[in-house]
Amino acid sequence: MAEHNGGCAHIHTHSSAEPIDNHMCHCNVCKAVTGQQITHVAFFNYSDLEVDHPELLKRQPFNKDNPDGALELCTCSVCGTPILLDDKQHRIRVAVPNLMGYEASFPKATYHAFWDTTKGYAKPSDGRPVFEAFRPEFSMPQPA
Ligand SMILES: [Zn+2]
Ligand SMILES: [Zn+2]
Repeated sequence: MAEHNGGCAHIHTHSSAEPIDNHMCHCNVCKAVTGQQITHVAFFNYSDLEVDHPELLKRQPFNKDNPDGALELCTCSVCGTPILLDDKQHRIRVAVPNLMGYEASFPKATYHAFWDTTKGYAKPSDGRPVFEAFRPEFSMPQPA
C-alpha cells in the first residue's frame, strides 16, 4: 500500500492512496509561487490527503491574480513551510513533494503539463508526454 508523508515539524500530511494525477507543471502560477521553472505537482483525491493540524494552516490564494480561485496555498503558521494546496470545492488536495516535506521516493511525475512554445525554453525531452494543459484524460473528481 502507498504511504506518502509530508509536512513540517508542526503539521503532518499523509495519504495511503496514490495521487490521481502526477505531473511536471510548467504553468506560470507554479513558477511564481515556487520559484522553480518546473514544479513536480501531485493531485490527491481530497479525502485521501489527511492533515493532522488544519487549525495551524495559514491560507492564502494560490494564484494571487485570482484571489477568488478554488485553490489555496496553505503554509504552516508556525514555521512558514508550505504544506499543501487546498481546494475550497473539496475535489483535490495538492502536494509539491520537493517543497512540502515528502519522502525522496515519492512517485515520479508521469507527464509534463502546461508547456507550450511561449515558455521560451526547449520542449522537455525526457521521454514523458508533453501537453499544453493537463493530460487529456484527466478530469477533476467530484467534491468529497
Ligand atoms: Zn502549475
Ligand atoms: Zn511548521
